[in-house]
Amino acid sequence: MKRIIIDGKQIELENKTTVFEAAKQNGVYIPSLCYYSQLAPHGACRLCIAEIDGMKGFPTTCTTYVEDGMVVRTNTGLLQNLRCQIFELILSQHNKSCTTCAKNLRCELQTIAAYLGVERLTLPFIEKDILVYNDEPFFNRDYNLCILCGRCVRVCNEIRKNNAVDFAFRGIKTIPCTSFSKKLENSNCEFCGACVDICPTGAILEKDFRQSLNPDKVVTTICPYCGVGCSIKLEIKNEKIVRIAPDIDGPANKGQLCVKGRFGIKEFVHHKDRITSPLARQPDGSFKEISWEEALSVIAEKFAKYQGDEIAVISSAKCTNEDDYIIQKFARTVLKTNNIDHCARLCHAPSVAGLAQTLGSGAMTNSISEIADAKTILSIGSNSTATHPVIGLKIKKAVAHGAKLIVINPKKIELCRFAYLSLHHKPGTDVALLNGIAKVIVDENLQDEKFIRERCENYDEYITHLSNISLEDVEKITGVGKELIIKTSRIYATQKPATILYGMGITQHTHGTDNVFVISNLALLTGNIGKPSTGLNPLRGQNNVQGACDMGCLPGVYPGYQKIDDASVREKFEKFYQTNLNPKPGLTLTEMFKEAYVRKVKAMYIVGANPILSAPCLKHSECSLTELEFLVVQDMFLTETAKLAAFVLPSCSFAEKDGTYTNTERRVQLVNKAIKPLGESRSDWLIVCELAKEILKIRRHLSLQKEENPTVSPFYKEGIEGGFDFQNPSGIMDEIAKLTPIYGGISYKRLSEKTLKWPCPDENHPGTDILHREKFTRGKGLFMKVSYKPSTELPDDDYPLILTTERLLYHYHTGSFTRKVDGINKISPEEHLEINPSDAEKLGLSDGDFVKVVSRRGEIRVKLQVSENVLPGVVSMSFHFAESPTNALMNHAVLDPVSKMPELKVCPVALRRTNN
Ligand code: SF4
Repeated sequence: MKRIIIDGKQIELENKTTVFEAAKQNGVYIPSLCYYSQLAPHGACRLCIAEIDGMKGFPTTCTTYVEDGMVVRTNTGLLQNLRCQIFELILSQHNKSCTTCAKNLRCELQTIAAYLGVERLTLPFIEKDILVYNDEPFFNRDYNLCILCGRCVRVCNEIRKNNAVDFAFRGIKTIPCTSFSKKLENSNCEFCGACVDICPTGAILEKDFRQSLNPDKVVTTICPYCGVGCSIKLEIKNEKIVRIAPDIDGPANKGQLCVKGRFGIKEFVHHKDRITSPLARQPDGSFKEISWEEALSVIAEKFAKYQGDEIAVISSAKCTNEDDYIIQKFARTVLKTNNIDHCARLCHAPSVAGLAQTLGSGAMTNSISEIADAKTILSIGSNSTATHPVIGLKIKKAVAHGAKLIVINPKKIELCRFAYLSLHHKPGTDVALLNGIAKVIVDENLQDEKFIRERCENYDEYITHLSNISLEDVEKITGVGKELIIKTSRIYATQKPATILYGMGITQHTHGTDNVFVISNLALLTGNIGKPSTGLNPLRGQNNVQGACDMGCLPGVYPGYQKIDDASVREKFEKFYQTNLNPKPGLTLTEMFKEAYVRKVKAMYIVGANPILSAPCLKHSECSLTELEFLVVQDMFLTETAKLAAFVLPSCSFAEKDGTYTNTERRVQLVNKAIKPLGESRSDWLIVCELAKEILKIRRHLSLQKEENPTVSPFYKEGIEGGFDFQNPSGIMDEIAKLTPIYGGISYKRLSEKTLKWPCPDENHPGTDILHREKFTRGKGLFMKVSYKPSTELPDDDYPLILTTERLLYHYHTGSFTRKVDGINKISPEEHLEINPSDAEKLGLSDGDFVKVVSRRGEIRVKLQVSENVLPGVVSMSFHFAESPTNALMNHAVLDPVSKMPELKVCPVALRRTNN
C-alpha cells in the first residue's frame, strides 16, 4: 500500500502505477496529448509535468511511478505557465483553422487550450506544407495537423504489432510514415483504425468525418462479424450510422477492432441493395414487392401443408439468441419437425459433437483474456490474425510477454512471424500429427499422471493405442520432421499453462470429430485444462454461432444442449410449450440438401443463411433447392440463395434490433437497437412469431375439421398460440432462462450491468470463466483412441493438387456484407489462388495468370498468386467471392459420420490456363 498526496488530496494505492494514472483514477485532471491507457508511458508531449517534493525539475507524471510519501502538485502557477509555453510550441506547427477542420469540437488540443485558458498565441506559425494522403481506403492522413505525440506509431507497434508506420525524416519535416513512404495498402497496415481512434487531432481522420456529422446519440452494441464479439459504439445522426468506434470497456476487445468492425459496417447497413419489403416471385422469375399481410398469409397457408419430415428450417449464426430461440421453437412446435440446423454444421459441428463426448461441453473452455497469460500457445488450424483479429492481438501480446507460440498449419500464416515453432503439415493429416505429439509426451513421461488418474478415464486403452504409433510413419504421413514433433511435444507438455486454440482447419474435414478427439486427448494428457490460461478453445467463426448452438438450432438438441431423445427433457418442453413434440431426431443441414434433392424434404425456410455459397458443391445445393416445392428465404439482401426463393422476407440488421449474442468464449452480450428498421424490414423473431401465429390460425381451423382431414399431424394439439406473443426480446430471454439451465440466471436486467458467461444457472451466479475446474461436465475426461484416416479424396494423375481453403482478413463468410464496402473492395477486390513457385513453374504458370480450377464436381476461374506461403502440391483459396465460388468444387457426398461435416479443406484439383 502506497500513500501519496496529489494537490492536497490523500490517495492510497495498492498497485504499481504512475502519478498520472493515480491522479486520473482519483479525479485529478492533468493535461496530456501523448498518454493512452493501454500504451507504455512515453513522456513526449511534456504537458503532464508536475512539481514533486524531493525531485528535481518538472518530471512528467506519465513516466514517474508513485512512491510512498510522495507529495505532488499538478497545477501551480509556474506549471501552468510552463504548460502554456509548451502548448504554444506545439501549436506553432499546427494549422489553427479550427472552423474548417473536421475534428472541430472533438480535438484534444481544444480541450487543453480551454483548460489552460489560452487566449492569444504569440509564436509565429510555421507552415509544414506536407503532402496530404487522401487517396487511401477509409481514412486520410494530413500530417500538417500532426503534433508528433507518437500515439499512432506506438499503437501500431505496441498493441497491433504491425509496425506499419514509424517516424521518418528530421526536424520540421518529421512525420509518422510507412517505410519508403509507400501507400498504406502496400505496407503492413491492416486498416484496423487504431491510429484513427487514438489521434488527438485531425491528422488521421475517416474520409467522411465531418463537423456536421457530430452524432445525436451513441449506442453501444456488438460487432456483427466474427465470434470475438467486440463491443462497438455506433454514432448516429438522423437515423444513420455516421461512425463506428471501439469500446474501450468492451470485455472482449478493450478498445481494439479489426477492419471489418471498424470500417465494414455502416455501408452494408445502409446499402441500396437492402430488401425493404417482402418480395414474391412472379411467373417470369422476377420479384414483386408485396405487403406483409399478403406475404405472411400466403406463406402460412403453404407452410401449413407441410410438417415433420417434409419441411426443414435453416437458421443463422448471424441472428440474435432470441431470433434463434424463436426459430427453433417455431420449427419444433408449429412445423412439428426437428429438421432445424444452421451454418455451424459447416464450421464447428465437430467441436460440438467431439468435445461433448470427451468433456461434456462443446464450447471454449477458457476466456479470451487468459490467452495473454499463457506460457505456451498451440494454435492449430486457425489463422487467427485474419479470422479473429482481436484474438490474434492477444496471441501477439502473450508472445511479447515471453509465451512460446507453436503454429500448426499447412500454410505459412502471419502468426508464423511470431512463432517459436511452425509446423506445416499436409492438409488432412492432423490426427497423425497430434497422435505423434501425444506419443512423444507419453514416451518421455511428460504426462500429468496425477491429473489423469484422478480426473480421466480410458487412459490405459489410450496409451496402448499410442504404443502402436511410429514417429517415422507420422513424419511420412504429415511431412513434418520428427525433431519438430518432439520439440513441440516437450514445450506443450512442460511450459505450463498451455492453451490450445483451434479453428476450421481442424473441423472442416470428414474426420473433423476425430481431429477434435485427438486435440482433447492432448489437453487431458498434460492436465492443461480446467485452469487459467489453459484449455481447448475452438474459435467460433460467426458472431453468434455459439449462441445459435446454445439456442437449440441443431437437429438433436433443445436449447442448452438438452437432448430431444431424452424423454424427461422432451416432457419438460412439451409441458412448457403445451404441445406434443416430434421425438424423431432431425436432419442436419447437409442431410437436408440430400433429402431435398430426392424430394423427401419438400419445403424449406432459410433465415439469414446463404448455403448456395457456403455449402459444398454449388450444383448440388442449387439443384436441391430448385427441387423444393416451396422455399422461403428471410434475409437483408437478395443473396444467391434468396434468388431461388418463392418469397423473400426482409429482415433488419443488427443495428436495427435489440437482442443478445453469445461470443466464442460463452459471453452473452446485449445487442442494442441504434436506428429504426430500414423500410418495412423487421426483426427475425418478430417475423417468425407473426408467421407462427398465422399458421396456428390455419391449423386451428383444420383441427375443427380433424375427423375429415387425416393430413393433420398426430402431434398437433391445441393451446400453443400464446407461445409466440412476445412483446420484446427481453421477454424471450426470460423464457430461454426458464427452459435452459446454462442460461438460467441470465436476464436483460443483469446484462445491462455486466456481460455474463454461461453456465450461469441462477440469478445470483456470477457466470463461469473457466469450464471443468473441479470436474468435467460429463464427470471424467474421456481419452479417445483415434487412428489416422486419409481424407476422402486424395490427389491423383487427373487432379494432382490439394485445394485447401482459408478466410481473409478483409472479407467475411460469403461476402454478403463485406463485398458491399467500397474500401474493402479496393483492398481485396477478387479471389486469388495461391500456388507454390515450384508447382507454378512445373505448370508453366506465372503470377497474375488466370486459371480454371477443376475438381470432380465443377470448375471455377480465378487469378493466380505465386507464393511461398503454400506447400508444394497444395493450392489455397478463400470462399468469399460469388464470382469464383470455391465451395462449388468441394465434395458433398461423404460426411463426417458423427457431425455430418463435409470435406471442405481437402479437395484434389487440376489447373488449366485460361485467357478469359
Ligand atoms: Fe468484429 Fe471480430 Fe473484428 Fe472484433 S475481431 S471487430 S468482432 S470482426
